[in-house]
Amino acid sequence: MTEDNYKQRGLRNKLVKKLREKGISNDAVLAAIGKVPRHAFFDDALLNHAYEDKAFPIGEGQTISQPYTVAFQTEKLNIKPGDKVLEIGTGSGYQAAVLLELGAKVYTIEYQRKLYDRTRAFLPELGYKPFFFFGDGSKGIPAKAPYNKIIVTAGAPVVPTALTDQLNEGGILIIPVGDRESQKMLRITKVNGKLKKEEYDNFAFVPLLGEQGWK
Ligand code: SAM
Repeated sequence: MTEDNYKQRGLRNKLVKKLREKGISNDAVLAAIGKVPRHAFFDDALLNHAYEDKAFPIGEGQTISQPYTVAFQTEKLNIKPGDKVLEIGTGSGYQAAVLLELGAKVYTIEYQRKLYDRTRAFLPELGYKPFFFFGDGSKGIPAKAPYNKIIVTAGAPVVPTALTDQLNEGGILIIPVGDRESQKMLRITKVNGKLKKEEYDNFAFVPLLGEQGWK
């Protein structure tokens, strides 16, 4: 892997400072982003951009999310060490690495075979070992449910009932919901078996495909 040198660490500290200025305040989340070597997820041609606060292509028409988006979604999940977390949309594996740095037990599912194969081979080389699944994450992974937290890293047309069903009591789902161009970030918490919904800003994700996503 690309070496994690002094320069990369300096750029990462600057990114963390920028995220703090943009309103991310959870120290554990910022520390996790300060640890994960984002440049290792980039092709050589884009290496110089690794610590910019932008999304970048990772092949197969997909993206590695913008660091602000990763920080925002992660912060809203209020991850505690030992939390069982389901991530829909493994992509590059960067978000999974941030969750693992926070001490979560991570189950991650990807719908595109090439990305699944690539990330499953690559991520453990960096020392990050989530449980990898291939398939339609809009249905969750019922066999491993329930989860303390669920994070959806693709834009959904509606909140999949399969996902809220797989949350345990007190569990939190963070999911962007809207049309194909723009989605509102929703946080759904299961309280006494009922779903409490909070709405945040708009984001722009690639579409969540599958049975409870876009057809
Ligand atoms: N979390 C990723 C990361 O850290 O790099 C970024 C994810 S990218 C914005 C969205 C991902 O969701 C893509 O890799 C896409 O193939 C995947 N995806 C779309 N629909 C899906 C589904 N139904 N189940 C699982 N993954 C899905």
